[in-house]
Amino acid sequence: MLGPPGAGKGTQAARLAERLGVPRIATGDMLRMEVNSSTDLGKRAERYMRRGVLVPDEIIIEMVKRRVSQEDCQGGFILDGFPRNIRQAEALEDLGTVDIVLYLEVEEGEVVERLSGRRSCSNCQAVYHVRFSPPMMGGKCDRCGGDLYQREDDREKVVRQRFQTYRESTQPLVDYYETKSVLEKVSGDGTIEQISQNLLKVLQSRGLL
Ligand code: AMP
Repeated sequence: MLGPPGAGKGTQAARLAERLGVPRIATGDMLRMEVNSSTDLGKRAERYMRRGVLVPDEIIIEMVKRRVSQEDCQGGFILDGFPRNIRQAEALEDLGTVDIVLYLEVEEGEVVERLSGRRSCSNCQAVYHVRFSPPMMGGKCDRCGGDLYQREDDREKVVRQRFQTYRESTQPLVDYYETKSVLEKVSGDGTIEQISQNLLKVLQSRGLL
């Protein structure tokens, strides 16, 4: 899944993963778990994440390599938040074939509103929005009852930096994957359900469903 911060990658990747019966590998979630557990990796990553810039490639590539070598990934997986630059994309080529890159397109103005209202579950990482997809019980996760919180990097100043990082490092992947004929653009505007349907159609058209 490719797209700017707040495009809905996490939400859609989780739905697709369930539908396809494959794991979703979200490097941001993995890093946040490392940070919460105060591991060495978490401590190294935190200073970058807090500023909204990319964690060094060596750390991320090693983490993804280890994850995709696990048993549950052998039938395929959905990557959410990786690769974030050309170097990571090249590293991914050593790990297997990229069947499809789903590029979720949204306007920057729209995304700022989405991110500022976003709330995440501190336990299972499910994502909510105070206006667009509120939890049934205020402040609690519908799925597991965990406490919802606002990610530190969803605050406005960091959001701006994340955007700049996206434009400089990640956006070039659109051309990179277009050239390889694996890119499919899907509008990130609309309801969660509509967008899911559009993504499924694209997968179907490529014979992946
Ligand atoms: P995300 O949850 O995908 O928005 O990621 C949150 C933060 O984790 C990013 O702003 C980066 O600091 C870091 N991060 C996540 N994925 C990567 C990646 N593939 N490469 C480098 N940094 C990453």
